[in-house]
This record gives sequence, C-alpha cells and structure tokens, in this order.
Amino acid sequence: MRIPFQSLGVALAFALLVPAPAALAQQKFITIGTGGVTGVYYAAGGAICRLVNKDRKTHGIRCSVESTGGSVYNINTIRAGELDMGVAQSDWQYHSWKGDSVFKDQGPFKELRAVFSIHPEPFTVLVRKEAGVKTFADLKGKRFNIGNPGSGTRASMEELLGAMGWKTSDFSLASELKADEHGAALCDNKIDGFFYGVGHPSANIQDPTTTCGAKLVSLTGPAVDKLLKGSPYYAKATIAGGLYAGNPDPTQTYGVLATFVSSSKVPAESVYQVVKAVFENFDDFKKLHPAFAHLDPKNMIKDGLSAPLHDGAIKYYKEKGWM
Ligand code: GLU
Repeated sequence: MRIPFQSLGVALAFALLVPAPAALAQQKFITIGTGGVTGVYYAAGGAICRLVNKDRKTHGIRCSVESTGGSVYNINTIRAGELDMGVAQSDWQYHSWKGDSVFKDQGPFKELRAVFSIHPEPFTVLVRKEAGVKTFADLKGKRFNIGNPGSGTRASMEELLGAMGWKTSDFSLASELKADEHGAALCDNKIDGFFYGVGHPSANIQDPTTTCGAKLVSLTGPAVDKLLKGSPYYAKATIAGGLYAGNPDPTQTYGVLATFVSSSKVPAESVYQVVKAVFENFDDFKKLHPAFAHLDPKNMIKDGLSAPLHDGAIKYYKEKGWM
C-alpha cells in the first residue's frame, strides 16, 4: 500500500508523541518482601517504597511491597529471583550466607548481599494474663504459637527450643499461626502465648495488650546465655516499660536486628536508588515508624550484616564518605 507523503508525516509526528515500547521497557520494578501486615517489616517496606516512588520520574523505578511469611521466605524467594529485596532478621542473613541451620540443604547463598540494617527485634513472648505464666519455662504443657514456617520468628524459636532441650511436643499445642493471627488467637483463648521477633512498639503487640490485657514475659536464663555466647548475631535486649498498656516494667530478653538484603543479581542502580531514597530523606524515614526513631546511618551500614554489602549500596556509602 502506498502511503501519501503527508499522512506519513502525521504518522511520524504521532510516533514521537506516544512513548515507544522501548521507553516503557526502561521502567524498572523492584519488589520488596516483608512480613505480616501488622508487623514492622511491612511498614518498613512501605516507607521505603514511598520514598523511592516519590522520585520515580527521575530514576524510572517503581517500588512495591509484598506481605510475606517473613525472613526465611524472603531470603529463599530472593534466591529464586522472584523478589529483588527483602527484610530479614540478622540471624537468618548470617545462616543463609553460611549455608547452615535451616539453609543447610541449600548451601551458602553466595549471591546474598546486605544493604543496611534497620530496627532491633527483641524476641517477644506475650501471654494471656490468666495463663499463670511468669517465665518462659512456665509455658511447658501449654498452648503456644511457635510461628508460621518461613518466618524468622519460627526459625529462631526452633533455635531457642534446641538450646533449652525442648521439643515442640513439650507444648500441649504448638500452633503455627502467622503473626497477623496470633493476637486474636490469644485474646480468643485459643492459645496461651506466642513468640514473635519484632520491632517495638508494634501494632501487633499493642492490640492484644489493650484488647485482653496480655502480658510480656522475659526471656533469660542458661539457655539464652548459651545462645548469646555462641553467636555473633544475638544480643541482650530490653523491651522498654510502659510501651504497651498494662506492661509498665521493662522486659529483659535477647534479640537480633532487622536487615535489608538483596542479591548480587539485582542491578546496582536499583539498590543505589533505594539506598539513596532512604538516606537522602532520613528524617522523614525515621518518622514513618516509631521503631525507627533511634536509627543512625553509621550503625545501619555495618551492624548485623554478615553478607557483603551490595555494590549499589557501596556506591552510595562511598559517595557520602561513610566508607
Ligand atoms: N522478624 C519477623 C520474621 O521474620 C517479622 C517481623 C515483622 O514483620 O516486623 O518472622
């Protein structure tokens, strides 16, 4: 077919106005794996994506979050190439890099990369006020939620049970509810307590303390001391008194750090833009969740990180003179 010269000109002018498919393809997508929607990971991922998306016009990256089962799921899914980034407890970052514990069958995840660490996650035991539980040992024979498979919570729970010489059968019921379900189960008298590695204050803990007067229980003693001694990723931690209704006293426990991880297969430019969005807007970021209030960039780029830093993160930290 012959196209009249004039129409061709119109067609060309149109082609210039409508974005070509090649330009569309340059839009990059980043998906961040988090945790349950009532936890802090989900809030952290949301906060980070909001800051990244604010400058979408300049860098072309569209960031989105996914609610997931937690740390172990996030690491495995990054490894499978189905998530670009994710939040993971520092203990599970360590074990994935080494290829031990729950990651033993898969071996070391050589492409795992650290980006930065965020808030502390004290291991948190919450019980029904009627359960008659003063220490973790009192939970023997009771109904306890050990967490969903795939959560860092669950994997860390297994480490604690191992150190105590307990099995899940030491509970009359060892339920595997997700973090989004354990608060309601506690107040509905379906369980006597639950375990959760989470930042504070968290909506997830606030709910059962206000709804049914749930109590925090300390996690101390020889088994915890043994865990602390044998690991670079656990540290003593305190949940401040008065953070939650009906829990005026500080709670002694131990915990890890929440960390941001990715894979060396994720382009440096993507990670660079995420890191830049967080640190260029750091005061805003800290305000996005009360658990972030005490964050300090100097610590975030080294504490709790076992895998090497991602190239995109290194580029930004060097630009800032932090490395
Ligand atoms: N640390 C938890 C886990 O990996 C998730 C905590 C959260 O979602 O804030 O299981």
